[in-house]
Amino acid sequence: MRNVVILGSGCAGNTAAIYAARAYLKPLVIAGHEPGGQLSITTLVENFPGFPEGVDGPVLVERMKEQAQHFGAEYKSGTVVEADLSKRPFRLKVEDEWIETRTLIVATGASARWLGLESEMKLIGKGVSSCATCDGFFFRDRLIMVVGGGDSAMEEAMFLTRFGRKVTLVHRRDQFRASKIMLDRVRANPKIEMVPNTVIDEVFDVSKGLVTGVRMRNLVSGEAHNQDVDGLFVAIGHIPNTKPFVGQLNLDADGYIVTAGGARTNIEGVFHAGDVQDRVYRQAITASGAGCMAAIELERYLEAEGH
Ligand code: NAP
Repeated sequence: MRNVVILGSGCAGNTAAIYAARAYLKPLVIAGHEPGGQLSITTLVENFPGFPEGVDGPVLVERMKEQAQHFGAEYKSGTVVEADLSKRPFRLKVEDEWIETRTLIVATGASARWLGLESEMKLIGKGVSSCATCDGFFFRDRLIMVVGGGDSAMEEAMFLTRFGRKVTLVHRRDQFRASKIMLDRVRANPKIEMVPNTVIDEVFDVSKGLVTGVRMRNLVSGEAHNQDVDGLFVAIGHIPNTKPFVGQLNLDADGYIVTAGGARTNIEGVFHAGDVQDRVYRQAITASGAGCMAAIELERYLEAEGH
């Protein structure tokens, strides 16, 4: 039986592992289906404090893992496919093996939703991004495209006008889910061109290893054309990774964990950290902060129980 199992190896999970390991709790980290989390699919990170020249996302998250291992954290590859949180010890099925634990930190993150194009997937981190806050800075005076019709797409488009020469907002319908105020702001911004009823069929240029343009298709007329683009921001929502906890942890309508205050969930001994609960900030530094909070609460919880 484990004292602590941490689900997820992004900034939240790794930071929780560092703190739990330094408290001699010997945490087991289950790496998850995207080991390293969102940072593992970015390139340069310039807003994580302590790195004035920036740091590669995959390097940063790998160093967090090394730091946790240095203090005794154990890592296991795999994903939780089933969980029984109805009684303690909690039981987790990782691939084919059941693991028992006294406490649990759920730091499984929220995966960006992508368009699902092969060319798009190959160019993630090379001009295709799901995070304007992270990558907008790299597209100063360049041509930027944002895909989506919700508040995230509006927010990203507005934010990216600080950097881009022009921002094209592409949406598959002519009705927008975005709130009226956000939509009005976007419509009033002279740097943003809105292209409704349009989808992207391909992102160029995989052979060059960077984004140079897209092929777009108007769903009403059926006409297709190519357009030059330097940065493609896909803002069509996130999917929190909470499937094994449905019906056990309190989740909101979109599947994000509802906090019970601090890092606590509705189940005693189960804590949350990072994007699986946070739909607002979604930053490496806030996820790390949340991982720290979860580990501190967990440590106090186990101590109160006499472990
Ligand atoms: P969202 O509201 O679910 O919108 C997702 C958008 O992406 C929709 O326009 C959807 O199109 C489009 N989409 C989904 N799958 C697509 C696909 N495969 N190809 C092309 N387009 C696709 O998601 P969100 O914008 O991330 O917002 C999530 C929640 O956070 C919302 O409640 C939102 O209000 C909130 N939020 C608030 C703020 C703010 O207030 N500052 C900022 C960001 C987010 P369809 O409409 O055609 O389905």
